[in-house]
Amino acid sequence: MRLVLLGPPGAGKGTQAAIICRHVGIPHISSGDMFRQAIKEGTELGRQAEKYLQSGSLVPDAVTIGLVQERLSKPDCRQGFLLDGFPRTVAQAGALDAWLAGKKEKLDAVIDIEVPREELMVRLTGRRVCRRCGATYHLQFNPPRETGKCDACGGELIQRADDTAATVSRRLDVYVEQTAPLIDYYRRRGLLKEIDGSRDITTVTRSIGKALGRDW
Ligand code: ADP
Ligand code: AMP
Repeated sequence: MRLVLLGPPGAGKGTQAAIICRHVGIPHISSGDMFRQAIKEGTELGRQAEKYLQSGSLVPDAVTIGLVQERLSKPDCRQGFLLDGFPRTVAQAGALDAWLAGKKEKLDAVIDIEVPREELMVRLTGRRVCRRCGATYHLQFNPPRETGKCDACGGELIQRADDTAATVSRRLDVYVEQTAPLIDYYRRRGLLKEIDGSRDITTVTRSIGKALGRDW
């Protein structure tokens, strides 16, 4: 299955992606995670991307498209993949379509997870991630068993540098301006599955399963 998860920052894309990928057995490809990893490793890509992540702006299309295409070319993506956080602009969506068409492949569905803005602010400012394995928690809605410690690997839980109130607000504006047009883009192509992301994590997973014809 070739899937795209669309939705504003904080909608629950990463949370649902981890669950869906476990069910379907496809790789989870998060452009944001790839940028954060590159920054951590101090690579050339990381140096190029850092200022954009810090300010909550989008990394330029040329850099992002190249990075994701390279990842999709790896053997583990041959049977399918789930894209989380890509595409984020109409140019990225066009490049993805063209790349897939060149391989005589196409997307199966685009899952759009929608959540009201006030709720997104609460979700993002309360998000904590594991420094070691990247697992995602929420102080209130999805707390770890032991405060500050990852359930999966015992790593330290930290706040992402771009999850502060000011940067969150900028990222939500960027979403409305540059990414929300993709909703219509995919609706016109008959691929869009609209999901109410304001419900609890299990209910959202079930709605996504239903939209994909799966009984999760
Ligand atoms: P995204 O990848 O879309 O930016 P995340 O999956 O990281 O979003 O979720 C943002 C925050 O909201 C995290 O702290 C996560 O634990 C929490 N969260 C995710 N889904 C839900 C939900 N359905 N209800 C409440 N909180 C949620
Ligand atoms: P995310 O982890 O999806 O919230 O992304 C974190 C940040 O990475 C974004 O605010 C952007 O700076 C950058 N980023 C991630 N994906 C993309 C993309 N598809 N296009 C441009 N920038 C991106």
